[in-house]
Amino acid sequence: MKPVIIKSTLLSQFNNLVHGVSTILGGENNSPFKFNLSINVGDDADIVSRNRRLFFNTLNVEEENVVLQEQVHGCNISYADRSEFIKENDALITDKENLFLIVNIADCIPILLFEPKTQIAAAVHSGWKGTEQEILSHTLDKLEKDFGVKAENLFVYLGPSICKHCYEVDHDVAQKLPPEFVASGNKKYLIDLPGINLKILKESGVREDRIQISSLCTFEMKNLLHSYRRDRENAGRMFALIGMRNLS
Ligand SMILES: [Zn+2]
Repeated sequence: MKPVIIKSTLLSQFNNLVHGVSTILGGENNSPFKFNLSINVGDDADIVSRNRRLFFNTLNVEEENVVLQEQVHGCNISYADRSEFIKENDALITDKENLFLIVNIADCIPILLFEPKTQIAAAVHSGWKGTEQEILSHTLDKLEKDFGVKAENLFVYLGPSICKHCYEVDHDVAQKLPPEFVASGNKKYLIDLPGINLKILKESGVREDRIQISSLCTFEMKNLLHSYRRDRENAGRMFALIGMRNLS
C-alpha cells in the first residue's frame, strides 16, 4: 500500500520544498507497529527499512540524502550540510538543496520551518520537555544569528501532535509550563503544547498568516496516526520531513 502522507497547504505553495508527515497507513501493514519508521520500538528491522524506503520513494527523496537524529527531548540544535545521523539532538537546520531533515514523532510536535528568501529549512522536535526548554525559540534565535533569517519571513507548520484536550499530565509536569496553557482536568492537568509553541512564534515575529497548525490529534486519530500515550510499547513512530529540492 502506498503510504498516506500528510502535507501542509501552507508549505505546499513552494515548488522546490519537499515536506510530509507519515501516518500508520502504508506498506505491508502486517506488523503490530503498522507503518512504523523507527528502528527503536521493537519492530522488525527489515520491515522498518522497507517502510522507510517506501516513505522516501513516495516523496521522491533519496534515502542517502536524509539527516536523522537521536532525539532526547533536549535542546540541542544542529546545522547539517550532509547526510548523517546526529546524536543527542532535537532540531536540525540546513541551507543545502537535496538534503532532507527528519523528525521522528508519536505525540510530540514536529515543527517544520521554511524561509524562502534565504532558502533555509529547519525541523524541530518539541514534546513537553522541548517546549519547556523552548527549543523552538532557541532555533529561531540560531536561524537569525547564524543565517540572518528574519522571523517575519518564515513559514511554519506544526504537524499532528497530541491536542490540549488529550494531553493529560501530573502536577510535576504541569507546573513547569506557562499556567495559561494548563487546564485542570479530572485530578490531572491538561497541557496545550501547540498553544505554547504558537505563542513563541508570534512573540518572535512570525506572521500569523504564515503559521499553520495541524488540527489532527495523534491520540484521538487511532486509524491514522501513531500515539505513544495511547499505544505505549506498541506504538510505532512517524517521520516528518522537510528539505529543498534542486529543480534545475
Ligand atoms: Zn486530542
